Amino acid sequence: MKKILVIHTGGTIAMSEDKDTGKVLPGEVNPLHETYALLSQVAEVTMDDFLNLPSPHITTEHMIELSNYIHAQLVQNQLDGVVVTHGTDTLEETAYLLDLLHGNDTPIILTGAMRSSNELGADGPHNLISSVRVAASDEAKDKGVLVVFNDEIHTAKNVTKTHTSNIATFQSPQYGPLGIVTKRGVHFHHNLVNKEHYKTLGLSKKVVLLKAYAGMHKELLQSVRNMQIDGLVIEALGQGNLPPALVEEVEAFLREDIPIVLVSRCFNGIVQDIYSYDGGGKQLKDKGVIFTNGLNGPKARLKLMVTLEMDYQMEEIREAFLKN
Ligand code: ASP
Repeated sequence: MKKILVIHTGGTIAMSEDKDTGKVLPGEVNPLHETYALLSQVAEVTMDDFLNLPSPHITTEHMIELSNYIHAQLVQNQLDGVVVTHGTDTLEETAYLLDLLHGNDTPIILTGAMRSSNELGADGPHNLISSVRVAASDEAKDKGVLVVFNDEIHTAKNVTKTHTSNIATFQSPQYGPLGIVTKRGVHFHHNLVNKEHYKTLGLSKKVVLLKAYAGMHKELLQSVRNMQIDGLVIEALGQGNLPPALVEEVEAFLREDIPIVLVSRCFNGIVQDIYSYDGGGKQLKDKGVIFTNGLNGPKARLKLMVTLEMDYQMEEIREAFLKN
């Protein structure tokens, strides 16, 4: 049997509903321990209670600690795979950061649940056993960090939470899942195009994410500049455009050598230097704004934090963001 380590970090998957008040909360004991016998039919499973936090409480420090912990466990215990249970709200961010820092072929799977452990139709135990099955499959090797949810297998890079409450919340818009999990097996139908790997044991840089909107206030960018940040990510309009009032502020950041990475606030399509009107993508790119594709804002922020931590200079950061 394959050796799989299951690491719990909290989230709805580890919570229960109070039947009188309807409130969902973490308890003293993680209800996922009850799945141990079931999981042991699939693999030689050990469980770690690493954290028990709702995922809006998860910080980049927790993520880095988790990454360091996983890599120490892989070295010490010769594991065949790792499964991390996590709250769904920030699951895609933890998955992506773990992916950027994961440098070998051992499967690391993240999963969670939309319904707490004692709710009717609880999806946690099913998602967990599916994840252990994927972690134990030979085909999951060398595919980086994956998210297994509702019988689908997604890449950490493309997956995003698309629905506030539906159990089919995790989707990879534009790209689709890499595979599916069925009663009989684990089936991959796509491969990874490329896999990045960065090495850092900490994350200390201050990177801010903003979302563009019609008539966006330039004072917002001025305030952010007063925060003495190391980098800025903007979810821009359409193919990568900003309201003209922001251009001066964008230039001020670039003069100070603070990288600005642009993604689109649309969840399909890519940003490109098409429009050359004031604030248009062509103009922004010519001024030195970094365009990137296939990442949403929160993930681009994590990648910028990682590259800054590694002391990448502006051109190296630009190169790194071309590789998505
Ligand atoms: N708010 C919860 C969390 O992220 C949602 C969930 O786990 O599904 O912790």
